[in-house]
Amino acid sequence: CADIAMYHAKEQGRNSFYFFSAEMNESTRERLNIERQLRQDLERQQGFYLVFQPKVDLQNNRVVGMEALVRWRNEELGEVLPTRFIPIAESSGLIVPLGQWILQAACSQLKQWQESTGAQFKVAVNLSGRQLTQPDLLPVVASVLQDTGLEGESLELELTESMLMETVEKTVVLLSQLKQLGISLAIDDFGTGYSSLSYLKRFPIDTLKIDRSFVRDLEADRDDEAIIEAIIAMAGSLKMQVVAEGVETELQFDFLRSRGADLYQGFLFSEPVPASEFARRFLA
Ligand code: C2E
Ligand code: MG
Ligand code: MG
Ligand code: MG
Repeated sequence: CADIAMYHAKEQGRNSFYFFSAEMNESTRERLNIERQLRQDLERQQGFYLVFQPKVDLQNNRVVGMEALVRWRNEELGEVLPTRFIPIAESSGLIVPLGQWILQAACSQLKQWQESTGAQFKVAVNLSGRQLTQPDLLPVVASVLQDTGLEGESLELELTESMLMETVEKTVVLLSQLKQLGISLAIDDFGTGYSSLSYLKRFPIDTLKIDRSFVRDLEADRDDEAIIEAIIAMAGSLKMQVVAEGVETELQFDFLRSRGADLYQGFLFSEPVPASEFARRFLA
């Protein structure tokens, strides 16, 4: 690709800068810069941190778990949103080392909280498709559990429908092996992909997370009510738990509770917060 050929490092090290072709469009240039900064911060092990969002029981409003979400603050770019840098980390392959860092940091944080506060619940970590197809995912996860001392039973992995449907046979085997470590599995953003229901029942999935878009439009869109009811009914017959994402209003909360969803996450209860704040508010 001609654009990439023009992308030369002028110097190495602290004062390095890059030449970009005039034709290279703004967004390509921005992506390449984000990729370069990501790589650099990963090498230096700086700039990345986790925030945690509570998962809450709809019946009694108790915090029963949490989702770890990565954040990135870069010297040059400032705070970059995950919706911006995760796709670039995925297309560049950097998600593999980054994902490993995230997993390690999440497990070690929960282990520390278990020891200091007796916290019982699980931490959920998002996996990207690239991680699922990396050949050594299983030993990597096993060694993170080993290193941090966290029980597999305390870890949940969030996957998406499209990741599962890509290579069904291999994925069924891999997911079963992860389950054997005690880990539980959730499908994230459920309802937005194109899951085949006949495949869905073949995967050892514990939880469906109803995508935020259905919850968001609950007040305005009758179809979304029907979709959510259908997901809850299906999860019930497949013996899966249901988590609703992105709950922001009492009305959404009431609807989900009355329809029998199990857990919710959302700004109504709490935004994702840094570890210190999570401990102060939810583990005291
Ligand atoms: P996700 O896994 O579905 O995470 C839920 C996203 O919804 C989070 O955005 C969270 O901050 C946001 N959210 C939670 N409650 C509400 C709410 O009530 N209203 C609204 N409007 N938003 C809410 P975030 O942290 O920006 O992450 C976006 C996506 O980026 C994630 O979606 C996930 O796909 C990806 N991501 C984030 N962290 C990681 C990570 O550590 N690893 C990987 N592979 N992907 C990640
Ligand atoms: Mg998630
Ligand atoms: Mg989600
Ligand atoms: Mg989502």
